[in-house]
Amino acid sequence: MTKRIALFPGSFDPFTKGHEDIVLRGLQLFDEIIIALGYNAQKSTRYFEINMMVNLIESAFSKYPNIKVVTFSELTAEFARKNGARFLLRGLRNTTDFEYENSISQVNRQLYTDLESVFLITTPKFAWISSSIVREVHKYGGDVSEFLPYQLR
Ligand code: ADP
Repeated sequence: MTKRIALFPGSFDPFTKGHEDIVLRGLQLFDEIIIALGYNAQKSTRYFEINMMVNLIESAFSKYPNIKVVTFSELTAEFARKNGARFLLRGLRNTTDFEYENSISQVNRQLYTDLESVFLITTPKFAWISSSIVREVHKYGGDVSEFLPYQLR
């Protein structure tokens, strides 16, 4: 049987416990999950440096050989195809997420028909965690450690 590989794409700026929850639950559905941090080579607008974030996410999942962490800077559908991923994993917190996810999944379907988007509804205790809130708290010197599945160095 072919391996069920899912791509979990995002900015992950930073990767939070909400994201970790989606990945760990995704492991029940997929043989392998590729966490892919998207970046734009032309404009770097990230708050947390991308390679540092890759290392931190790897440290959070070090005991899972079937979780990979990579960066990419191309169409998500194309990157999925190249990596043999037939599933796109995404999380849903609310109707705003739904509106957004609905439109990108329709576009991805046009670009790569065999790519199936799979959405996991957030676990209630993580529903309010967003990367933007964590960035805001961090920027003003607040303690963000309880929102993240690794230790910020
Ligand atoms: P993007 O920039 O592509 O929206 P994010 O890094 O913000 O990427 O999020 C990646 C995915 O994780 C998205 O599907 C998003 O809805 C989901 N996600 C973000 N935070 C949570 C959370 N707290 N619980 C569940 N899913 C989440």
